[in-house]
Amino acid sequence: MRRVAVLGATGSIGASALDVIARHPGRFRVDVLSAHRNVDALVELCGRFRPELALIADPALEGTLARKLKAAGLRTEAAAGADALAEAAAGPLCDTVLAAIVGAAGMASTLAAARAGKRLLLANKESAVMAGPLLLDALRVGGGELIPVDSEHNAIFQCLPGGRPPLARAGVRRLILTASGGPFRGRTRAELAGVTPEQACAHPNWRMGRKISVDSATLMNKGLEVIEAHVLFGASPDAIDVVVHPQSLVHSLVEYADGSVLAELGNPDMRTALAHALAWPERIEAGVAPLDLAARAQLAFERPDLETFRCLALAYQALRAGGDAPALLNAANEVAVDAFLAGTLPFLAIAEVIEATLGELPPAPVVDAETLIHRDLTARDTARRIMRRAFC
Ligand code: NAD
Ligand code: MG
Repeated sequence: MRRVAVLGATGSIGASALDVIARHPGRFRVDVLSAHRNVDALVELCGRFRPELALIADPALEGTLARKLKAAGLRTEAAAGADALAEAAAGPLCDTVLAAIVGAAGMASTLAAARAGKRLLLANKESAVMAGPLLLDALRVGGGELIPVDSEHNAIFQCLPGGRPPLARAGVRRLILTASGGPFRGRTRAELAGVTPEQACAHPNWRMGRKISVDSATLMNKGLEVIEAHVLFGASPDAIDVVVHPQSLVHSLVEYADGSVLAELGNPDMRTALAHALAWPERIEAGVAPLDLAARAQLAFERPDLETFRCLALAYQALRAGGDAPALLNAANEVAVDAFLAGTLPFLAIAEVIEATLGELPPAPVVDAETLIHRDLTARDTARRIMRRAFC
């Protein structure tokens, strides 16, 4: 029986994971659930899954959570705050941690789970982007497994022999990440000038949280994934390509030295990657509709437009710059996306804010988590200052 901690349980990935888990009561037990501020949604999930521990990230809500759990007749313990989250991720209540918090807020608990040798199911790509070298160190120290949940990286994991081998030894020439192109594929810069958060969040193939939806619309999601692929699989930037594939049926590909290209296909439903990661190396039912290739008729592929969607080019640039440049990129992106979602920053300015932030802050080596958090905050301040000056 796997004892699972679902961190970010009230989100889109959290919901998909709990859907898979609920299909296999003999195989998985949910012992830890976490949410940011939505106490009612968390208590509702506790009623369904009866975990040992419920965590609310906002410390001001601990009392409310404890009271509502009790009022619901549940024996689930309540805890709050970022430290409690990291402690639970490393603690004895779970052997498997789904890192499904959005953004840099997920870093500490992801690193804690890795250091404690848990099976880490990684959806929170931002922590790999920010803290790649620290995550790899933590995995080495902890000796646990990392199974990627991001659909592209999960696909690559499935197309490689035996998990995450050294790529040269496995004869791998190239990793090819597919991108849907998002809701604005094919548009010109002029057509993007006035787009709204609602338009940006209306993804054609996937239903996701608002931050990753905007990242998909700017192609920063693919940029973060290029960096994530570099961290998780050790591929050089030149050996990671992106191809736009609007149907999102091919989730990514691995090209080998002999010319073979292996791909993982399926309907665009995150439950496939989650079920794979939860049960690996076995396979379990995920509730996903079978792929009807004849009915889908076409698989199309095209090159990404790096002139219009500057964020993807900026991510490659940050990866090549090295050090903590990816963490600075990620922080500036989070601030800019928040402002766009709040209606105070135009869509095209997201890339401009990130570029200007990277221009002001030369990269420094990644030393430890404290320094990284400090640099993350500096990048956020810099991005806010740039936004105030230029756009607000
Ligand atoms: P979401 O916004 O739907 O959910 C985010 C979850 O994180 C919620 O449970 C929320 O309560 C929690 N959270 C938010 N801020 C927090 C904070 N400061 N402290 C603690 N918890 C906090 O997001 P999502 O779409 O489920 O994405 C989650 C992660 O998975 C992201 O890193 C995203 O990039 C990645 N991911 C998502 C998808 C997808 O299909 N949704 C696919 C691949 C990867
Ligand atoms: Mg993805």
